[in-house]
Amino acid sequence: MNTPHTSIDAARLSFLLNELRLPAIKTLWPRFAETADKEGWPAARFLAAIAEHELAERDRRRIERHLAEGKLLPGKTLETFAFDAVPMISKAQVMALAAADAWLEKGANLLLFGPPGGGKSHLASAIGLALIENGHRVLFTRTTDLVQKLQAARRDLALEAAINRLDRFDLLILDDLAYVTKDQAETSVLFELISARYERRSLLITANQPFGEWGKVFPDPAMTLAAVDRLVHHAIIFEMNVESYRRRHALERKRGPGRPASQATPANLAEAELAE
Ligand code: ADP
Ligand code: MG
Repeated sequence: MNTPHTSIDAARLSFLLNELRLPAIKTLWPRFAETADKEGWPAARFLAAIAEHELAERDRRRIERHLAEGKLLPGKTLETFAFDAVPMISKAQVMALAAADAWLEKGANLLLFGPPGGGKSHLASAIGLALIENGHRVLFTRTTDLVQKLQAARRDLALEAAINRLDRFDLLILDDLAYVTKDQAETSVLFELISARYERRSLLITANQPFGEWGKVFPDPAMTLAAVDRLVHHAIIFEMNVESYRRRHALERKRGPGRPASQATPANLAEAELAE
């Protein structure tokens, strides 16, 4: 049968769509053209339909690329985060931060403090995931790893370029800032990163030590003060002072049923442990 679209040069059209970088249209047009011909679509409807598909496919591929470059922790999502285990933080506020980009636009920071096992890395990665799914670019990195890379860049006289390359990320997650060691601190690359992003690009920092203990993260007290000052100037701070999530679950399993996890606040948990 001689359908109208066979009267054009399909090979040439494939070539054109390749050159124009329209892979979704290239794959889809024969099927859509057939339907359009059969059902008598106006030309504009056909064009709009395949253009929508190209755009949707482009978004999907971009998010896939951003997920690959983001190095998030696997399996850590907001859906699997038990907010009732961290009663001092508001789920609504976290959801708002994960959904909206006002704070990213002004380069505000998010700081998560709390003892090990309290869910800081999980929450940080989960927020990163939600932001990537909403079209943003995020990089999750252990602070010590990034500091090492920046130190190497400094040795090659390429620190500024390395810091500039991180500008492509709307959010840079520095996990475990307080684990930066003395010799890493001596080169001040972390301070330069924080200064470069100040009021422009957001940082999400997790640390098990509050600011008072950051003396060894930066080369000297003046720099520590300046770094903290820039970090907190536009910042949302979550203090996740809860007992280790894994430890709590182990304890609850030992106790057996009768106390739902959601009621095990840090205070009554401590009491329960003392009474044992
Ligand atoms: P931190 O970074 O504060 O040391 P993690 O985020 O690494 O803590 O949490 C330790 C483990 O416990 C991880 O496997 C994490 O997924 C889990 N976890 C911690 N808090 C929660 C929570 N509120 N809901 C679900 N899982 C949690
Ligand atoms: Mg952690």
